[in-house]
Amino acid sequence: MQPTYSFIIPVYNEEATIAELYRRVSQVMDGMDGPVELILINDGSQDRSLELLRELRSRDSRVCYLSFARNFGHQIAVTAGLNFVRGQVVVILDADLQDPPELIPDMVELWRQGYEVVYAQRTQRRKESWFKRFTAYVFYRLLKRLADVDIPTDTGDFCLMDRRVVDVLNAMPERNRYIRGLRSWIGFQQTAVRFERDPRFAGEVKYTFRKSLALAINGLVSFSRVPLRLSTYLGLFSAVVALVMALLVMYWRLFDGTAPLTGYATIAAAVFFLGAVQLFSIGILGEYIGRIYEEVKNRPLYTLREVAGFASIDRHETSHDRTPPEKRLRF
Ligand code: UDP
Ligand code: MG
Repeated sequence: MQPTYSFIIPVYNEEATIAELYRRVSQVMDGMDGPVELILINDGSQDRSLELLRELRSRDSRVCYLSFARNFGHQIAVTAGLNFVRGQVVVILDADLQDPPELIPDMVELWRQGYEVVYAQRTQRRKESWFKRFTAYVFYRLLKRLADVDIPTDTGDFCLMDRRVVDVLNAMPERNRYIRGLRSWIGFQQTAVRFERDPRFAGEVKYTFRKSLALAINGLVSFSRVPLRLSTYLGLFSAVVALVMALLVMYWRLFDGTAPLTGYATIAAAVFFLGAVQLFSIGILGEYIGRIYEEVKNRPLYTLREVAGFASIDRHETSHDRTPPEKRLRF
């Protein structure tokens, strides 16, 4: 039977939350007015998560899962889920119950009113460290200023999307997937529901500082060329400083008879400053070039080790796969 609703949940070492997650999500699923499929993506967990997913699958046929051959990261896990969904309405949420599933009926109501994307916007983050709250606050505002598309502040991946939006997302070949940005880029009628973000139900945060930073840089670089322009500005600024200095030195030599700028410290500072500007610019260039390299290699976004609940496993041939059908790998 073709489901009307698909819920996508990425799972990475979430053995402590899966039982409670299933309890709360299945309650919401029972209350929906059409058939629901629950797609869990095991992102290479090292704990008992996959075993628990198998168990859920054997108990409830609405549960399907994909299991990666290693950890590919949250954005790729969500992407895989999107590649496999069959519903008309797709909802993405986190496994740790920070995104309350009870909000889904409200989101569906807005979808009925004609919105193709309903994203959840946090009004508050409870019990998260001040450091995370502060960096998130600064990042989302910076991104809003710099990005080419209007990416709403304080929204994560928790959202509802209409089939048409998911089809567009699946047709986007890029591998640096900053899903909340791509979702905004697509357009359609979008609206927000506001919610208070609960603390994680159990277990540790899986987004380490490094992963969060990588996601943030990804978001900025994928949706803005302002950082590239930064080196132009810095170069112009240095040129102006150099010109003013040259004029000053000339003036002092000709009319003043003194030459105050002979110190070693001044020269060292100038050399270091210019070195820093250059390295910084090369670093920014590198971010963009590295991404071009990643895209050009055109590797599959993920590798699957186990799949359950999808009648035709050929669905792994997703739209980003540009190899001709007869040459494709079968999983
Ligand atoms: N996650 C994942 N792969 C990863 C890291 C996280 O699939 O490499 C999943 C995780 O299981 C959870 C969601 O992504 O369902 C969000 O992770 P987390 O709660 O640790 O991040 P935060 O809430 O701090 O954004
Ligand atoms: Mg979380």
